[in-house]
Parts: sequence; structure tokens; C-alpha cells
Amino acid sequence: MQNILYVVAMQAEAQPFIDAFGIEEQEGFFAPLPCRLYSTEFENGTKLHVVLNGQQHGSDLVGCEAASVATLAAIERLHPDLVINSGTCGAFESNDAHIAEVYIGNGVMFHDRRVPGDDEWGTQALGNYNVWEGSEAIALELGYRMGKVTTGSSLDMQPCDLQIIKDNGGELKDMEGAAVAFVCSLLNTPILFVKSVTDLCDNGAETFEEFSKNLSAASQALRDANKRIICHLLHLSESNR
Ligand code: SAH
Repeated sequence: MQNILYVVAMQAEAQPFIDAFGIEEQEGFFAPLPCRLYSTEFENGTKLHVVLNGQQHGSDLVGCEAASVATLAAIERLHPDLVINSGTCGAFESNDAHIAEVYIGNGVMFHDRRVPGDDEWGTQALGNYNVWEGSEAIALELGYRMGKVTTGSSLDMQPCDLQIIKDNGGELKDMEGAAVAFVCSLLNTPILFVKSVTDLCDNGAETFEEFSKNLSAASQALRDANKRIICHLLHLSESNR
């Protein structure tokens, strides 16, 4: 593995990881797109890039459109061997998920695209893209649980979303994963998901409050997990970084 690209929605999710690796911003790299690039190169020549969706109207761009733009622009210009979508997600108490727990994705799909028609339309709407074949080995070797990522355009969860999530074995609810995977599928680039839980969708709490309260802890957990994953993938010793 020579070149790894992280695609991350929110600055708060990426900052602890950026700081830990001392990764520097390459200002204006994607101009006029709002996406931001942070890059570093290790002594053995391997490259690590972190691309953020950027901001509009003073807030971080979350959701599928921004994630698709960032992923497309970044893959075309940086030619990574592997894309890693790292971010926060909702999960389910009924699956025994915990706040700030890190998961590796073992599948990815959309949960809010209800398109009537034949099987082909339904299949396209749900997505169900492949994840990188090395995902399971990472989870096993580093001791993370695996779960299926399901993506929609909203932070809240409507009953019809829950129905699709449950019917398809979804465990990790986010707003970007399937969009990133969609672009990766078009450009034949493998994708690994690293997700940390900010909120439990079935515990009766108000999602935004729970998300805000736990964003920092979940992002620190992402930093720790991503340090381990990078060291594992690039065969670096953790104490050196
Ligand atoms: N208004 C919020 C915006 C965050 S949107 C703020 O001020 O910070 C939530 C982000 O976290 C998205 O990028 C999404 O991928 C992820 N996320 C965390 N919990 C989620 C949940 N329960 N459902 C969907 N996305 C979630």
C-alpha cells in the first residue's frame, strides 16, 4: 500500500487524527471546490492524504452530495490505492452498540432511497456496494466489531428508514458512507469504513443532543483507531508516530 486517502465529512471528526500525525494542509489544492486537503509522506515514501468535504454557509458540509464531490475530486487527483471513509455514526442499543465504539464496515447501502419499479431499480437505489476485501482482516487483527453502514440524507430517522435498515441488516447509520462507496465503485478504488458511534438511534434520546455531546469522544476514538489502522497498513511502528 503506497497511497491512502481518507475522506472525512467534519473537521471535528478529522482534527484529532490530523494532529496526531502532524498532517499539513495543502491550501487551495481543490479550488474552487470547498474540499480541503491535508497530506503527509512517511520516510518509506508512502503517502497519507486526508480530504475534508469543506464548508458552506459557515458549517461543515455533511451528506452525500458533498461526499461524492470530495471523493471524486480526490481520487482523480490523488490516485489512492485505498479510500478510507472515517466518521461518526448512529448505532443501535438493540445490537449492544456503545458510544465511542469503533466499527469496521462489512457492507454499505442507502436507507432512504425508496424507488418503486423492478428489482434493477430497487437494487440501484439501495446501492449495496462492495467494501475492501481486507476490511475483515483489519477488524479481526485489531479487535474491532464489524457492521453494515447505511446512509441517508438526514440525521433523524423516520419509521420507513428504520424499516429498510432492519430489513437489510444495517447497523451503522451515517450520511456519507454509501456516496463515498458509490464513487469508489465507479473508479474501481477499494474502500474501508472506520466508524465511531456518537448516538444510539433506539434509546429514546434526542439524536442531535446525543451527537453533540459525544462528538469529541467519538472523534478521539477515531484518532486512536486510525493510528492503529495506518500503522498496520503501512507497517509502521506506532511508537514512531
Ligand atoms: N448539525 C450537526 C451536523 C452533524 S450531521 C453539527 O452541528 O455538528 C451528523 C454527521 O455525523 C454526519 O456527517 C453523519 O455521517 C454522522 N452521523 C452521526 N450520527 C448519525 C446518525 N444518527 N444518523 C446519520 N448520520 C449520523
